[in-house]
Amino acid sequence: MEKITDNVYVETGFGGSNNTFVVTSEGIVLIDTPQSPDDAIQWRDEIAKHGEVKYIINSEPHGDHFTGNYFFDGKVVAHEGVREAILASDADQLRQQMKQMTPDATPIPDGFYYKPPVITFSQKLTLHLGNHTFELTNLPGHTPYQTAIYIPEEKVVCTSDNVVYGVQPFLHQAVPYEWLESLKRYQEYDADYLVPGHGEICKPDYLPEMSKMVQAWIDAAEEAIEKGMTAEQMQEDTSLLEKHNIKVGTEPFAKRVVGMSMANLLEKLK
Ligand SMILES: [Zn+2]
Repeated sequence: MEKITDNVYVETGFGGSNNTFVVTSEGIVLIDTPQSPDDAIQWRDEIAKHGEVKYIINSEPHGDHFTGNYFFDGKVVAHEGVREAILASDADQLRQQMKQMTPDATPIPDGFYYKPPVITFSQKLTLHLGNHTFELTNLPGHTPYQTAIYIPEEKVVCTSDNVVYGVQPFLHQAVPYEWLESLKRYQEYDADYLVPGHGEICKPDYLPEMSKMVQAWIDAAEEAIEKGMTAEQMQEDTSLLEKHNIKVGTEPFAKRVVGMSMANLLEKLK
């Protein structure tokens, strides 16, 4: 865990997304929650040293950002599209998945449920707690329902997976051109630090780099459309991606991610 400013703590080492908590004079605000019970319990014990959790903000509609909500007190706040995704998630399916993938880890507890947002918004919401302000803004990109969380008193922005550092973005639900527009909007914040959805904490000067990554995927998809290639072909033969400087791992999962990302891009850009 890193303390990046006077009141902002970030963990970039959990199995899922990056997790942040902010200590205010009236309690704690979490931004995203750990995916595995082991990480969630560890995070809960750490946070308990700093106060009581009052609010949980989920930055986007993917399980690696919200599964751990169950383990924490506090009201969940998120975009209405995130609430829909959480309500559609199936705890039994997660239980089976975890048994297969991580048989030695602490299993999903008996009473587990996907704890949904009780406060939602569509474009903007401002939360005030103690002396802190949390400006939530819908910035479509990685999905249409991404939220940027700006904490002006700390000069920190939690970006969601609209910004990822040192890993490839996942574009299976992306809205690519809106994503490029949103990346310009992050430049407007008076911020010293960006907490990306995954990877190391960075500074706003990383944003052009992130735009280049998204643009590279768009360029590769446009070339694939010109050549009449399918997402499956792109997944099998990654030379076109490499030509656009997109480095894909060789693991089956990495390849599947390419296939899903490309299928979405080909559909959206056609
Ligand atoms: Zn995501």
